Amino acid sequence: MADLVRQSHLFGAPLREPPKDAEILSHRLLAQGGFIHQLAAGVFSLLPLGVRVHQCIEQIIREEMLALGAQEILLPSLQPKALWEETGRWTTIDPPLFTVKDRHDRLYALAPTHEEVITDLARTYLHSYKQLPVLVFQIHTKFRNEQRPTGGLLRTREFTMKDLYSFHESEEDLREAYERVKRAYGRIFQRCGLKAVPVSAASGSIGGTVSHEFVILADQGEDRVALCSSCGFGAKVEALEGKADRCPSCGHTLDVKNCIEGGHIFQLGHTYSDKMKAQITRADGKKSPLIMGCYGIGLGRLLANVVEASHDERGIVWPASIAPFQVHVLDVGDGAGNERVTKAAAGALALELADEGFSVLTDDRDDASPGEKFADADLIGIPWRVVISPKHLTNNTVGLKRRSEGEERAVPAKESLRDALAG
Ligand SMILES: [Zn+2]
Repeated sequence: MADLVRQSHLFGAPLREPPKDAEILSHRLLAQGGFIHQLAAGVFSLLPLGVRVHQCIEQIIREEMLALGAQEILLPSLQPKALWEETGRWTTIDPPLFTVKDRHDRLYALAPTHEEVITDLARTYLHSYKQLPVLVFQIHTKFRNEQRPTGGLLRTREFTMKDLYSFHESEEDLREAYERVKRAYGRIFQRCGLKAVPVSAASGSIGGTVSHEFVILADQGEDRVALCSSCGFGAKVEALEGKADRCPSCGHTLDVKNCIEGGHIFQLGHTYSDKMKAQITRADGKKSPLIMGCYGIGLGRLLANVVEASHDERGIVWPASIAPFQVHVLDVGDGAGNERVTKAAAGALALELADEGFSVLTDDRDDASPGEKFADADLIGIPWRVVISPKHLTNNTVGLKRRSEGEERAVPAKESLRDALAG
């Protein structure tokens, strides 16, 4: 089916001014571009443009998870208090739980993470080493009771997360899977146009011994990472014990840089299976606790990270892999009464491109000036812009411009446009 949206009917139009409470750049551009809308502190609606990007990211993540051999599940957001008391995290998790009461006064947590629920399922369904290893994942809503949810999609109270859990017979098997997941994470960020580095991190209230954060280096980042240019060692500054100026591996001077967190993976070991008595029978007939790993990546945060990394002074520059549309068609009259002709030509071209399989947004607004259309196109950041103007119609050309490049060029309207877009 043709994927074509007319901007005159787009739900959530670009705004003339960014919202006043948008403190950071990705929040400002995404809100002004009509991708997101803030409902309350740290709570956002995704508008159609935002959903389209979000779905592209979801698709990439799902493909990489399935390629690992992971199976998709869907776990509840409402989680009984008794389950969280088994691990002691009902009162200790940081940030504290969002809790709700049902009509019978029973308490539930709104899931910030799913270790308790998945371990409960594991003790029900996993009994033998012969069933292992098993990897399961979901892409689902999480709730975090953040103290100060600022930063747009970088720190929210409700967001979509991909969480993967792995179950093993031994620590050795866990380490092998952990390395495979780490490589898959590298591919996820790369496919979304981001360069993320895995660095040693503190495990916090998730627990376990070994964990890595995938960080994106960014001057405006709130976190700090120490990197060794000599041996490649990297760690979050808060995870370094003692002095943070010398590499613990080789002794070289460490460079401390600002960064943004992109994802976090953990070797949980038997932390949860001990507390919740999730055991399997080994080959020698003895029982032992399940060995676990968990691996998280926030989708909205990833989306915001791409904007932080890929923009210019005029707006967002989406990588083609996660762009809301592939092509943005603009009809631009010259005010001399030929608007209907350019509009009809642009509408026909947009439909043709959509029929050929391109996803197309067409700016058919009557009440926007050419300047406004160009400005909004740059703000929204679709990879290819195709302009139909009276001059182009006379010359049987269209104006073609890549969002990531400076100049529009005139190309013959038919075949070469398709070649250019396909290439
Ligand atoms: Zn080093």
